[in-house]
Amino acid sequence: MLEPELSVAKDKILIVEDEEAIRDMLGYALMKEGFNCDEAADAEQARNTIESSRPNLILLDWMLPGMSGIDYARRLRNVPETRDIPIIMLTAKGEEADKVRGLETGADDYITKPFSTKELIARVKAVLRRYSSSTDTSIIEVNGLVLDPETYRVTANGQDIEISPTEFKLLHFFIGHPERVYSRTQLLDHVWGENVYVEERTVDVHIRRLRKTLEPYGFDRYIQTVRSVGYRFSTR
Ligand code: CA
Repeated sequence: MLEPELSVAKDKILIVEDEEAIRDMLGYALMKEGFNCDEAADAEQARNTIESSRPNLILLDWMLPGMSGIDYARRLRNVPETRDIPIIMLTAKGEEADKVRGLETGADDYITKPFSTKELIARVKAVLRRYSSSTDTSIIEVNGLVLDPETYRVTANGQDIEISPTEFKLLHFFIGHPERVYSRTQLLDHVWGENVYVEERTVDVHIRRLRKTLEPYGFDRYIQTVRSVGYRFSTR
């Protein structure tokens, strides 16, 4: 097995959670996985911690005493110094609408309590990978589906896939933003560009084509419809 990536610096995760037991559990799981951790019990403590040491990612509980996690996420996004720190919301709210609301305030992902540490680690790594890959053109691989942004090639289990440029862009966007739900409008903005006039229906057409392209290899199931919200890329 080739291991091209050598981890030099450890990523630092700031855990903002008022329940000590959960905070300890998160810290333990993350440190076991090789991350450095800082802990804060509320937004105020978090602010002080960030000032002295900037984290690579923030795990932010939705329900906090004082300023809520969602308001704090919004504040983090409005300040230039913290705007580009990825945020994962921890939420007990299971409603899809709440999740979308959380994402709209600027969180990158959300995890619904109760969650397994395995899921947590996977989400943290996915978000960190997404941030580091958004600026470069590194090859992305998910369970045998490989996308190379430099050569515009996609392979499935080693086989070349014929894919149109638009489907490629759509897949590239999805694969770099796993588990997150996007509305048709958001997909248009991200994939087609904000100032291009394209009907929302166009998104559905390209989603269909992308699924058809991936179908022979079984990867079409990763492109999931979230009823009345939009679409997401998920391996689950
Ligand atoms: Ca809480």
